Amino acid sequence: MGEYETVIGLEVHVQLKTKSKIFCGCSTDSQSRPNTNICPVCCGYPGVLPVLNSEALKLAVRVSLALNCKINPSIYFERKNYFYPDLPKNYQISQYQRPLGEKGKLELISKETIGITRVHLEEDAGKLIHKDNYSLVDYNRTGTPLLEIVSEPDIHSPEEAFEYLTYLKLTLQYIGVSDCDMEKGSLRCDANISLRAKGSDKLGVKVEVKNMNSFKGVRSALEYEAKRQAEVLKKGEKIIQETRLWDQELLKTTSMRSKEKAHDYRYFPEPDLPDFSLSPELIEEEKECLGELPLEKRKRFLETYALGEKETGILIAVRELADFFEAALKIYPKAKEVFNWLMGPFLEQVNTLEGGFAAVKISAENFTKIVKYFSENKLNNLAAKKVLALALTTNEDVDEIIKKHGLSQMSDQGELEKFIEEALKENPNAV
Ligand SMILES: [Zn+2]
Repeated sequence: MGEYETVIGLEVHVQLKTKSKIFCGCSTDSQSRPNTNICPVCCGYPGVLPVLNSEALKLAVRVSLALNCKINPSIYFERKNYFYPDLPKNYQISQYQRPLGEKGKLELISKETIGITRVHLEEDAGKLIHKDNYSLVDYNRTGTPLLEIVSEPDIHSPEEAFEYLTYLKLTLQYIGVSDCDMEKGSLRCDANISLRAKGSDKLGVKVEVKNMNSFKGVRSALEYEAKRQAEVLKKGEKIIQETRLWDQELLKTTSMRSKEKAHDYRYFPEPDLPDFSLSPELIEEEKECLGELPLEKRKRFLETYALGEKETGILIAVRELADFFEAALKIYPKAKEVFNWLMGPFLEQVNTLEGGFAAVKISAENFTKIVKYFSENKLNNLAAKKVLALALTTNEDVDEIIKKHGLSQMSDQGELEKFIEEALKENPNAV
């Protein structure tokens, strides 16, 4: 690998968290019984008319802003023509010539900045379920609003691709546009990778890698592909421009098809959705919705609290956790103690809850009582954990729980001695 430089660009598809689909009123719940959330619009019957979901547009604007994109105020959709059994219209409504957002950037924690080529809105396809000698199709997902986020080929290692994806996902979760669950398919990633001689500014022939179902899978696939390409080049052979599939079992990529050129899709303006202008007010409103982005939160945490980079990193990786930490500190301003309790017993218990953080009911006020009582020796470790377990999903008052279950710890020495003396006096035989 020494003589080559790796060049990677990533294409991320993310489902937007809207209640209804992008061009019709059907629910976006794709887990329902197959083919129950469908209508003539998303099934592509002749003569139907799409109507753009304004919430999907707003969320897409919010993403474009978070990724520092230049926003094209004139909205315009095109048809991308291709046939798949799970896209019954024979075309996908997408944006090609004029994406919603362009020329953005995402700064990573490592201080690297990755350029964002484009952010555009489109509709998702359905799902094919392959059986032994037949296939089934479920159109529930067809028409779910999808955002395609394409990076510049600014990524120079599989590790950096992993870091970009992790941080992009965190950003999208912070601004509340998607749950980004790769297992459920609400976030998908394809990668373009090529090698070039070190020092050269000419890009090599790129290969598209698909079918990775986790960020770790993306990293492994890119590691494999960089090595494979280096071996091909070393033999003096040429890289073929093609799409390759990552095989998670065999840990290798295999050729799927030679790359289709963009013009194969015969894009043309979507005649059923006329152009319109984005109002400046909408853009302003979405700016307000952005809130503090993860990198800003990280910076502020490092400046405000006596925590290290690693500890801060763990907190900001889950927005709810970072918010809970701050709420707790407002009541009980001992960062290290609160952090230790959150990282230890709190997360241990949250991780066993069905629904995770969403199932947590305990208030910051109630939680800090436990931390405080533990630090004052009013609760021992075991009792404090038990109180936490009882209050975690109920928010029952911690003082009540302690009283009800007799969990308080005696720490007054005089009081203790009195009890010991009594016990000795009453049990002479045992003494
Ligand atoms: Zn529909």
